[in-house]
Amino acid sequence: MKPVRRRFDALIIGAGGAGLRAALQLSLADASVAVVSKVFPTRSHTVAAQGGINAALGNVLPDNWHWHMYDTVKGSDYLGDQDAIEYMCRAAPRVVYELEHFGVPFSRLENGTIYQRPFGGMSQHFGKEQAARTCAAADRTGHAILHTLYQQNIRAKTHFFDEHFALDLIRDAEGHILGCVAFDIMSGEPVVIEAKTTLLATGGAGQLYRTCTNALINTGDGLGMALRAGIPIQDMEFFQFHPTGIAGRGMLITEGARGEGGYLVNCEGERFMERYAPHAKDLASRDVVSRAIATEVREGRGCGPDKDHVLLKLDHLGEEIIATRLPGIRKLSQTFLGIDPVEAPIPVYPTAHYTMGGIPTNRFGQVVVPVRDTPEEPVPGLYAAGECACVSVHGANRLGGNSLLDILVFGRAAANHIIGYLREHPYHRKLDEDSVQAALDRLQRWDRKGDGESPDALRSELRQVMEDHIGVFRTEEVMAEGLERVRDIARRLEDAVLGDDSRVFNTARVEALETENLVACALATATAALARQESRGAHSRIDYPERDDQHWMRHSLYSLLDDSLDYKPVRTRPLTVETFPPKPRVY
Ligand SMILES: Cc1cc2nc3c(=O)[nH]c(=O)nc-3n(C[C@H](O)[C@H](O)[C@H](O)COP(=O)(O)OP(=O)(O)OC[C@H]3O[C@@H](n4cnc5c(N)ncnc54)[C@H](O)[C@@H]3O)c2cc1C
Repeated sequence: MKPVRRRFDALIIGAGGAGLRAALQLSLADASVAVVSKVFPTRSHTVAAQGGINAALGNVLPDNWHWHMYDTVKGSDYLGDQDAIEYMCRAAPRVVYELEHFGVPFSRLENGTIYQRPFGGMSQHFGKEQAARTCAAADRTGHAILHTLYQQNIRAKTHFFDEHFALDLIRDAEGHILGCVAFDIMSGEPVVIEAKTTLLATGGAGQLYRTCTNALINTGDGLGMALRAGIPIQDMEFFQFHPTGIAGRGMLITEGARGEGGYLVNCEGERFMERYAPHAKDLASRDVVSRAIATEVREGRGCGPDKDHVLLKLDHLGEEIIATRLPGIRKLSQTFLGIDPVEAPIPVYPTAHYTMGGIPTNRFGQVVVPVRDTPEEPVPGLYAAGECACVSVHGANRLGGNSLLDILVFGRAAANHIIGYLREHPYHRKLDEDSVQAALDRLQRWDRKGDGESPDALRSELRQVMEDHIGVFRTEEVMAEGLERVRDIARRLEDAVLGDDSRVFNTARVEALETENLVACALATATAALARQESRGAHSRIDYPERDDQHWMRHSLYSLLDDSLDYKPVRTRPLTVETFPPKPRVY
């Protein structure tokens, strides 16, 4: 049967904050826009963001975009690209005010301006006093933003392919990206979506780890699609572990809980962050706090019968603050632990949270790949934004509140660039039938039944291997074994089957396809982590404890097709201000 064919000016894969912000910009500019999402748009992971979005509005304490930029460069452990960071920090107030005007119900101060809370790693005057830069709608900021953007898109008449799974990009022999092949999860019907430009906005790959804060849908599909189209992915060794996941389960307790005055204690009741970060204490950068917790537990000062977690104390804040500023956290803790944080502390441990690496782009959202003589060249027709992209504003470690900002700033920037591109490229190129067929074959491959291992079992095994081998603390030996096991899982997945039942549900095919994407991401992560012989940001090696700027201040690039690693320089030149040179990173 011939698949259905549809044509649009612009295709956006993903309906989280990045995808919807871009779609809105394009629809308002009268482009015909299609958004494909494997879940109903408002179920995208952006909906789960709790703490807020950073912008130097200065509503609570004096603030300045240049201080925000300094904090972001330092937070990235000097691996972030300073042109993109300057662009993002300068654009932040404008992007937040736009959200306010779209209708996002931010929490308010007495004087009616947007409420802002302190978050980790943020400062005034280039590293001096704590700043309050995170704009919040209680502890449900992502929910407020995503629903508002969705409603605005409905008004602007964006076309949605809800519950459609994107399989692969369509690419012609000259390397132009011409859209994607997707399939309708309910009916199983494939659909070919042709477009003059394609934006990947598929979110992160938190499902790489057994314990994580991420939704089940965060399986790195866009990264898999890029890798299969021959595009290398960048900095995958940097995966953020959030310090405060609910111990043993992984659900997130926002950094906003510490921003509101909560703090961590070990089994001796000691506020141990004072030893690790005398100045910023519990509001040091996430990698620093995660390592401190893991160290406390390793050295026997953990809490509980198994001494395997620490405690987050909020009870001293009083019921009023908790009820108004952290209602969602209170509910989470009551539901999953039976603990009311007004009365007792919450058991927490680091949990996999955020994919710093991703598809390499410039600050216009264009996907760029290194070619021999010039350092970077855009892939014609292809853009990426949001957590699946690597601009890179987060470098080796992202600051809390900077991801919601990243997805909106660069979702918007990509759309603006696409509008220009569409003006210069008014016609669709000829479709590449071989490329369409290759994607359809990939779908068909998961009709295979019989005896054998299931993708589901392999996915569970993969997540455990990643947790055990490529976690908070890393060593050569443990990672090398992890990489071998990931390779073994990749080989076994090629022979896996969806059971011998005559009925196979489409959701099982989706899970199999997602597992292929996760395996591709795991290969990238393990390979790049094993190769990087230094400690920087979230990549913390016991055998190479120091940062090594001379050899390693560079981005890694992993290519799936030839299983190889390459490197490219960090863009250390900002747009208008002076470079922040690397310094020892203390909080
Ligand atoms: C629990 C939690 C709390 C957080 N809190 C904060 C916070 O307070 N502040 C902050 O700055 N950041 C926070 N973050 C991080 C931030 O929310 C995310 O990085 C960001 O929302 C990602 O947005 P996105 O648009 O890139 O992707 P997502 O919101 O993850 O959306 C991805 C979209 O892609 C679609 N998709 C994926 N694969 C396919 C496919 N194969 N076919 C079709 N569609 C596909 C999905 O359906 C979805 O619509 C938090 C993250 C988590 C997990």
